[in-house]
Amino acid sequence: MPRIYLSPPHMTGNEQAYIAEAFESNYIAPLGPFVERFEAMVCGATGAKHALATVSGTAAIHLALRVLGVGAGDVVLCSTFTFIGSVAPILYQQATPLFIDSDAKSWNLDPELLRRAIATAPRPPKALIVTHLYGQCAEIDTIVSICREYGIAVIEDAAESIGAEYGERGCGTFGDFGVFSFNGNKLLTTSGGGMLVSSCGESIAKARFYATQAKEAAVHYEHREIGYNYRMSNVLAAIGCAQIEVLEARVARAREIFDTYRDLLGGLPGVAFMPELPRSRGNRWLTTLTFEAVAPEIIRLALEAEDIESRPLWKPMHLQPLFAESPRCVEGVSDALFACGLCLPSGTQMDDAALCRVCDVIRKAHP
Ligand SMILES: *Cc1c(COP(=O)(O)O)cnc(C)c1O
Repeated sequence: MPRIYLSPPHMTGNEQAYIAEAFESNYIAPLGPFVERFEAMVCGATGAKHALATVSGTAAIHLALRVLGVGAGDVVLCSTFTFIGSVAPILYQQATPLFIDSDAKSWNLDPELLRRAIATAPRPPKALIVTHLYGQCAEIDTIVSICREYGIAVIEDAAESIGAEYGERGCGTFGDFGVFSFNGNKLLTTSGGGMLVSSCGESIAKARFYATQAKEAAVHYEHREIGYNYRMSNVLAAIGCAQIEVLEARVARAREIFDTYRDLLGGLPGVAFMPELPRSRGNRWLTTLTFEAVAPEIIRLALEAEDIESRPLWKPMHLQPLFAESPRCVEGVSDALFACGLCLPSGTQMDDAALCRVCDVIRKAHP
């Protein structure tokens, strides 16, 4: 039987036709018609107003910090329960991350602890990077309104959460900036890539400038500021255009996969699935759950023995050696999730037979 991967790329079939079109037009460059089309399509699909396609989600977060003027010594609040790409750009800017724990009802940033972090920060924080984890929205309306009170800019790390909704609005469109990733393991992929979105056209124009080596308008290439080479290639944007066309279908399938797992495993004692906040609809990028009666590593090894890939939840940033000295506002929620949790294979091309195969192994390994 073929190996079952955690979250492999799921191509639609249109990618190659679009890539061929890019080749025929000879736009093999980090700009071109597919880049503009992909940016417009992401706006259309998410409700964002302006967008900039980038080489990665990490680059998009870096650009957001740069446009916000975050620099040496500034404090940036951020989710501790996240992936490194979310917070490494804080260090690129020589700023200080202040890690905030999750709450149990969303697994995402706890608004109460956000207030406490603001009150106890070594200096008034300049920005917040809030992660929408595994496709599940954080309590973003409350979080944005708290930050507005204190004049703190909000960057939504929706790298894993394109197509998720909170109330009537798309995840990534509430803050000053939103970020999506199209890395190979995400719900949609361009092999590698990202997108920065904002309702402020000037901010996206500034980000585009920094992402294009900060080239001033002069034929001889004049430079007054440090920039980066962060633009997405036209060839990869062609892949993105084919991927974004099927966003709704991918979200629907990922949600079905989640429901199937819950139906088949929900009866096991001590098993709990990642919750979803009322008024929100996650994209269920990965089905994630926690175990009380068994160490998740036992389950992971049992799956691996049957050639099925699964993974622990993200190790919280405040537990990473890189951030041993960083300030934090944590209460043990993400520590416990990390200790008990597991990500199940959730590729949207998985059929029900594959899902049953995974569940059979888990049921056998579970006491
Ligand atoms: C994948 C991911 C990123 C980084 O995106 P890349 O495109 O891989 O740079 C950032 N934050 C989170 C939460 C992610 O899952």
